[in-house]
Amino acid sequence: MDNNPDLISRREFLVQASAGAAVLLTGAATLSCSSRSTSHIQGGMVGANHQAGHKLRNIPALYKLPISERLTTDVLIIGGGVSGLSARRWLNQKGIRDVLLLEMDAKTGGNAAYGKNAISAYPFGAHYLPIPDLRNKELVRFLEEVGAITGFDTKNLPIYSDYFLCHDPEERLFINGFWQEGLVPEMGVPTSDKQQIKQFFQLVDEYKQAKGADGLDAFTIPLERSSRDEKFRQLDTISFASYLTEKGFTSPFLQWYLTYSCRDDYGSTLETTSAWAGIHYFASRKGQAANANASSVLTWPQGNGFLADQLRAQADSPIRQNLLGYGLQRSATGVTVQACDVATNRTVVMEARKVIVATPQFITKHLVQHLMPERSTCTGFHYAPWVVANLTISGLPQGRGLPLCWDNVMYDTASVGYISANHQDLRDNPNKVITYYKPLTDEEPDVARRRAYTTTYEQWLTQILDELEVAHSGITAFVSQVDIWVWGHGMISPSPGFIWGQERQQAIQPIADSIFFAHSDLSGISIFEEAFYQGIRAAKEAMKAL
Ligand SMILES: Cc1cc2nc3c(=O)[nH]c(=O)nc-3n(C[C@H](O)[C@H](O)[C@H](O)COP(=O)(O)OP(=O)(O)OC[C@H]3O[C@@H](n4cnc5c(N)ncnc54)[C@H](O)[C@@H]3O)c2cc1C
Repeated sequence: MDNNPDLISRREFLVQASAGAAVLLTGAATLSCSSRSTSHIQGGMVGANHQAGHKLRNIPALYKLPISERLTTDVLIIGGGVSGLSARRWLNQKGIRDVLLLEMDAKTGGNAAYGKNAISAYPFGAHYLPIPDLRNKELVRFLEEVGAITGFDTKNLPIYSDYFLCHDPEERLFINGFWQEGLVPEMGVPTSDKQQIKQFFQLVDEYKQAKGADGLDAFTIPLERSSRDEKFRQLDTISFASYLTEKGFTSPFLQWYLTYSCRDDYGSTLETTSAWAGIHYFASRKGQAANANASSVLTWPQGNGFLADQLRAQADSPIRQNLLGYGLQRSATGVTVQACDVATNRTVVMEARKVIVATPQFITKHLVQHLMPERSTCTGFHYAPWVVANLTISGLPQGRGLPLCWDNVMYDTASVGYISANHQDLRDNPNKVITYYKPLTDEEPDVARRRAYTTTYEQWLTQILDELEVAHSGITAFVSQVDIWVWGHGMISPSPGFIWGQERQQAIQPIADSIFFAHSDLSGISIFEEAFYQGIRAAKEAMKAL
């Protein structure tokens, strides 16, 4: 990403002027998009087992199911996303082997879900990991274990695997009818706006270096290790929109870029994102490497599904899939947990000394409702709905400018663009899978979620293709398959006051030294690093209490 765009050049001005005409032409071509034939396109709605999760709305009915099995274990982990798998790996590595993990879905991985076809694997959720700060030692060690770090140079800087470091060209933006390099708008952007963009990134650099009175970095990952200095934390009390207004950042191009960033990272808007979280995204990336820079990312065709599978493979204690945990009760020896086998509708009853609940809070509240009725509201936890679509294509009509990159974003459109899932595959193959991401930020999350659940496959398909046709006129004819996944509660959105507010802190507290909580939403931002950290934190707490 170029953080210091120069003033507009004459060459760029000429390109921009001719691009204006191209935009008009493209605009005219898209008028009839909805009437294109899509009958040749295969596919459908795919996704996690919503029916299983919705069973938690009627827990009394679950208690009536016949019991088929009784089990005991030292530590029971509920939830097989990154946080639950991270807890399991950590416990196993520390010698705690009597661990059982329950996952309600048919696969582990949670939001790092992925699919695969003859052309490529492709993500349905999380798809990249920025290279970490070296002080995040646990994560660096994990990346070494999975072969993402292949060694260290003489300055002890990690050397990342060329297979996993995102290859060039990495990012492009379709703006004014032209694919420019990088996502910060440059093409056709007036000088005064470029100046503001430059000032914003200068401010980010200052925040990157900043430390609080306690000597801690103002912004870091895991965010729990960030400074407690009020000077920085008070940024959490206002929205990112208010912060930008206060600082005089009025450029529509800068505002678009930051809106895009909030939507992409948090599924929220400038108004619904805490200023602390908005700045954290930019100011916390401090990765170092022998062969990459701080903004480099690691990616795989299956996205972070690679990392989730590796976390799973690094431990050997049992995992039971299709088991929906609920009804936690304290017992004489620890905790009793019920689980519904969603395939057979039978109950498994488990007795555990300690339980780690690695589920999002909108589910957790149902699991612990008898023990902590006060957790039943979770009003501060807001979740963004998302739609992700994988399109299998036999070609991509290319507009003017930079060719296909890993990340491809279209200025001022409904989605946050698409990634090329087989980007890391160096073979020159016209057949590709592209993964389209759209956070549903136009309406309140509840309204958008309900609408998303009732939107048909054909309606999504039309919306997605209409948008892609703007930058890739004629793409519909090249599409053979589209699979669409709706994430009703895709990721936690860090609304103003949430990151350093009380509700998040309270939700982390264990119950009676027996039930511990791990999930990325307990960090207030939904990224692999935080899920990985929350799993280890909860595992350490549980192990100490064993
Ligand atoms: C569209 C999208 C794109 C994303 N992109 C990125 C990205 O590029 N990079 C990144 O770092 N992060 C990304 N994320 C964030 C991602 O959520 C986190 O990185 C991480 O995977 C979250 O892991 P988790 O364990 O905290 O939660 P989850 O993934 O939510 O895992 C929770 C697990 O618990 C299971 N479960 C729930 N209830 C029960 C129950 N009662 N019994 C048994 N099992 C249960 C669920 O099925 C699930 O498997 C993205 C998220 C989405 C939605």
